[in-house]
Amino acid sequence: MQPIELSSFLRDHKQPKYRLEQAIRSYFVEFHDSWDSVSTWPAALRETCKELTWSPLRLELTSETDKPESAKMLLMTEDNKRIETVIMRHADGRNTVCVSSQIGCAMGCTFCATGKMGFGRNLSSEEIVDQVIHAARYLKAKDAKVTNIVFMGMGEPFHNTDAVFESIDVLTDQDLFGLGARHISISTCGIVPGILRMIEDAPQVNLAISLHAPTQDLREKLMPVSIAYSLKQLMHTLDEYMRQTNRKVMFEYVMLKGVNDSLEHAKQLVELLDPYKRLSHVNLIKYHDTGMYKATDEKDRRAFQEYLKRHSVSVTHRISYGEDISGACGQLATKAGS
Ligand code: SAH
Ligand code: SF4
Repeated sequence: MQPIELSSFLRDHKQPKYRLEQAIRSYFVEFHDSWDSVSTWPAALRETCKELTWSPLRLELTSETDKPESAKMLLMTEDNKRIETVIMRHADGRNTVCVSSQIGCAMGCTFCATGKMGFGRNLSSEEIVDQVIHAARYLKAKDAKVTNIVFMGMGEPFHNTDAVFESIDVLTDQDLFGLGARHISISTCGIVPGILRMIEDAPQVNLAISLHAPTQDLREKLMPVSIAYSLKQLMHTLDEYMRQTNRKVMFEYVMLKGVNDSLEHAKQLVELLDPYKRLSHVNLIKYHDTGMYKATDEKDRRAFQEYLKRHSVSVTHRISYGEDISGACGQLATKAGS
């Protein structure tokens, strides 16, 4: 639903203002799934409004898993592209929705299944928001709510920056979805202009950087984006980000056996983060096999983590959600093609 478009449509049809509020409430608060469900409206008005899109995505399938408790929704766009959205249910009551920002991705990271698909198209801000509404509807049926949103599904958010920021405006608007900005996180492969825009437009939104390598040479091999935006430029931008926002940055580091997981790499990572320790947190991620690499052995991962800890780098190991439903973040919409 596009509130602005709907507002002028209702005005053109000489409808009182409360009609807009009713429709907005139905979609953004009660998570109804069609114009027909705005039951307080006259049938004729509901019919007229069908000219406008209620929900740009159609739910095809929901698969669930118990351990860890999560669900993957397969959603179809109006031009029949597949989007997958993952809902992760945490033991502490939080429910995180992992949203996609694009169909496929143009960034070509060598370890990433979405990267292998290549680029399809950008999602609109309505399509991004609608993923959250679908998730909220699913959770409502279980007496639960969306408490967190992460942009860690398919696509690079800062390759679709306008739509991503527009969707955040809608999701945080108290008159619309109304989630606190601090409950939203954006993960980026390191596109500098997007990070700079966060300082201005969304300083409360959490920032995660897919780092994955401590040196320029290695990062270039794993992530072609670092040819355009070097590690040096990225760290300089993050320095600016930290100074201006005083917010912590999460560094994602996928552990690839024999590639980026030695103690030498740990040492390089400590050196890289040394000036930023106060506002950095490293998240070591288990690699989901996409054919290119092998996952780091558990004992090597532990040694790597210990090394960082010993050198006062804040670090955790992320147990990925949804692996058993092929819904792990960064792994979406590839199994059955797109
Ligand atoms: N494009 C954004 C967000 C989507 S990817 C980004 O790159 O940050 C979400 C996370 O999944 C990123 O940290 C990404 O590096 C990670 N990821 C991608 N492929 C993966 C894989 N095969 N195993 C584990 N994590 C992966
Ligand atoms: Fe795109 Fe992120 Fe995958 Fe890289 S890791 S290819 S940026 S989705």
